[in-house]
Amino acid sequence: MKNTTLRSLLVAGAFVGGIVAGAAAEKAPPIGYTDTPFLPGGQWRVHDLNRPRPQAVQSGPFQTEAPPADAIVLFDGKDLAHWVSTKTGAPAPWKVVDGCLEVAPKKGDIVTKEKFGSFKLHLEWREPADITGTSQMRGNSGVFLMNRYEIQVLECFKNTTYADGMAGAIYGQTPPLVNPCRPPGEWQTYDITFEAPVFKEGKVAKPAYVTILFNGVLVQDHTEILGTTQHKKVAAYEPHDAELPLKLQDHNNPVRFRNIWIQPLKTPAVP
Ligand code: MG
Repeated sequence: MKNTTLRSLLVAGAFVGGIVAGAAAEKAPPIGYTDTPFLPGGQWRVHDLNRPRPQAVQSGPFQTEAPPADAIVLFDGKDLAHWVSTKTGAPAPWKVVDGCLEVAPKKGDIVTKEKFGSFKLHLEWREPADITGTSQMRGNSGVFLMNRYEIQVLECFKNTTYADGMAGAIYGQTPPLVNPCRPPGEWQTYDITFEAPVFKEGKVAKPAYVTILFNGVLVQDHTEILGTTQHKKVAAYEPHDAELPLKLQDHNNPVRFRNIWIQPLKTPAVP
């Protein structure tokens, strides 16, 4: 509890610091917006500056999870055989460093060769210990489910940004329930259970849902996904195939990943 209180104070301090830094340096990225459209429900705007940031909580010690026998291992620390460049389809231009998959800044996003509908996904990610930057320019990457629904990856232990852009958020839509982010340099886990959307006659018959454990802590509880990820706009669905690749984002920060595996699930039928 004491630790949590200290974390809260640190985050509060960073918030004030962010405003001061923002005023002093014009190029500092914004920590939220007040002029974006409202999300459904009308309470909060997309990337709302004033939407409450989730409370910092300390997770338990790091625990990895070995892939079950029926999982498809998408990265085992050795090569990028399962991945290609999103833009060109050429071999993935990211690096394998010390058994980790490292974002190659400005080389572009990568996607899996395989396509998936609903699934359970496990992956581990880590920010550089000597990380710099603020808000969305601090360790930004992302896991795009079906190549379009982003679960945000961001340094959020000592960072202030808009709530729907924090690690564990459905970017631009729903903040994590709490913030269990570990310090830069430490490994973090995402366990993501995703229900693919279903389309009928060009319309959404059933939206997508996602449940996420972040460092073992529940941060999304069967949360409805509103549509394809957008920046500063309200997400909306576009009909798409029943199975699509998984994407990892190059946001110009050298985030590392490891132990990535996926278990395809049968998509629930439309009621
Ligand atoms: Mg991102």
